[in-house]
Amino acid sequence: MARVRGIVGIASDTSAARGKRDLIDRRNSAGGHLRPQRAAMMSTRAPERPIDIPRAASGHGTGIVDRSAPIGRSPSGVRYAVLTAIWVGAMAVAWWPIVVALNGPSPLRWAPVVAHVCGMLAGYAVLALIALMSRAPALERNIGADVLARWHSRGGRLVVTLILIHAYAAVVGWAQSRREGMLVAFWQVANLPWLMAATIGTIMLVVVGVASARAARSRMSYEKWHAIHLLTYVAIALSFVHQLAGPDLAGRRLLQVVWALLYTHVFAMLIRHRVLTPIRQAARHRMRVADIIPEGPGVVSIVVEGEHLTELQAESGQFFRWRFLTPDLWLTAHPFSLSAAPTADRLRLTVKALGQGSQRLQDIAIGTWVVTEGPYGAMTSVRRSRDDILLIAGGVGITPMRALFETIPLVPGQDLTLLYRARNAGQVLFGQELDEIARRRGARVHYLVGDNSDCLSATSILALVPNVARRDVYMCGPPGMTEAVRASLHGAGLSDDYIHEERFAF
Ligand SMILES: Cc1cc2nc3c(=O)[nH]c(=O)nc-3n(C[C@H](O)[C@H](O)[C@H](O)COP(=O)(O)OP(=O)(O)OC[C@H]3O[C@@H](n4cnc5c(N)ncnc54)[C@H](O)[C@@H]3O)c2cc1C
Repeated sequence: MARVRGIVGIASDTSAARGKRDLIDRRNSAGGHLRPQRAAMMSTRAPERPIDIPRAASGHGTGIVDRSAPIGRSPSGVRYAVLTAIWVGAMAVAWWPIVVALNGPSPLRWAPVVAHVCGMLAGYAVLALIALMSRAPALERNIGADVLARWHSRGGRLVVTLILIHAYAAVVGWAQSRREGMLVAFWQVANLPWLMAATIGTIMLVVVGVASARAARSRMSYEKWHAIHLLTYVAIALSFVHQLAGPDLAGRRLLQVVWALLYTHVFAMLIRHRVLTPIRQAARHRMRVADIIPEGPGVVSIVVEGEHLTELQAESGQFFRWRFLTPDLWLTAHPFSLSAAPTADRLRLTVKALGQGSQRLQDIAIGTWVVTEGPYGAMTSVRRSRDDILLIAGGVGITPMRALFETIPLVPGQDLTLLYRARNAGQVLFGQELDEIARRRGARVHYLVGDNSDCLSATSILALVPNVARRDVYMCGPPGMTEAVRASLHGAGLSDDYIHEERFAF
């Protein structure tokens, strides 16, 4: 038995159930070496390297064999390209009011220029933010929903800040030019055409911003936060005419038309991907719950049957937003990853009961209609750029990892290893399936079980996977865990370009 900084390596037999028993038995019999609650590791490795035949242990599986492990692009290239495009657009938009002011008849004054630059930038940033959240497949697949959501939330704070600076500088500029006090100037500005509507829109955006602050958001349900967030659309509608009537666009018919077309295009994207596509998918794929399989305490797999599912082009590592059409669930779509490779007529998700919605799904009735949005997520085999692969899963983050473990292309000479962190042996999901996949594919799975916080440190990872710096790493787990593991991977010499992550939190 080899000790790895507090992790005990046990060469287990092929079944996780036996492995769990072993773990407990060995803990009890290990005297001073293994105490209950001590972190433990079980590993499974097939005796030889068989030729890869992706076929799901659960009866799912595409049966498609890709013998050439694809070499994909790093997502950072696409991210930089999108961010660069956004920044270039922002600079053009910010430059325009300065050009207008420089060519104007009156001398340049800082307050109106700041007001105009911030106003134009805010109008542009709103467009960019809506486009990022439109769920356009190109963005979702190449950047990833979690990254888009992070950009959106940072951008949202920026928009509110820009609008407040815009409003303040506009009032200051008015007060200076009319020699009025700030309150009188504010009242006069607010009574200009379309300004009262824009002011109400600004107040709504501030409310959304406050509700989205971490402290406030953690105190309210997702549904309540989402309902408040919908005020954003009302706020945009209220301020739109003010944008067109502002001095930078007013009187310039071509610019007004271009600006209005940009807004129309982005809102059309939003409606297409968030409303029309789910409706079309519901009619085309006619999905229903076909089976519920208990997987562990408070965890079930839900098998969903449907028609023409290959048209969705879903891949292991991706997730859908699932809307179960029961009286108490139909209003919310929850994101859940595929926990098995998708097939032509079946998708499988695995749900841990964390709150009300996921609790209700534990005993959802067979035959319930399901409407999906997706597939989403960039953590697929397309991201891969190296021969050897390391998958790291924490808790219920095993769901997309299990699907990737099952199907990520593998040819002789390549190594596939899964590190699966669970709080205790009872919380290990899919043990038998993982062992079976490992055996069939010649892959390795290490169960890192217990309360040893060091078991995913750089040293521990290097002890288990010495060539980690030359691998692609896919990981999924609670945000705290994945942040710590990312730091460990950096410590082990791996750069961010090879880390592909899905966070179970937006
Ligand atoms: C990309 C992704 C993939 C996921 N895959 C899985 C999976 O395979 N298995 C699994 O068990 N869990 C998964 N989750 C987590 C799962 O979505 C949440 O646990 C579930 O939505 C909680 O809903 P609730 O009503 O039970 O809990 P609540 O108590 O209402 O919420 C718990 C947490 O989930 C978030 N949440 C709630 N509803 C939504 C929603 N509609 N959209 C986004 N976030 C929401 C809340 O912000 C909160 O942080 C995934 C999450 C994401 C973002």
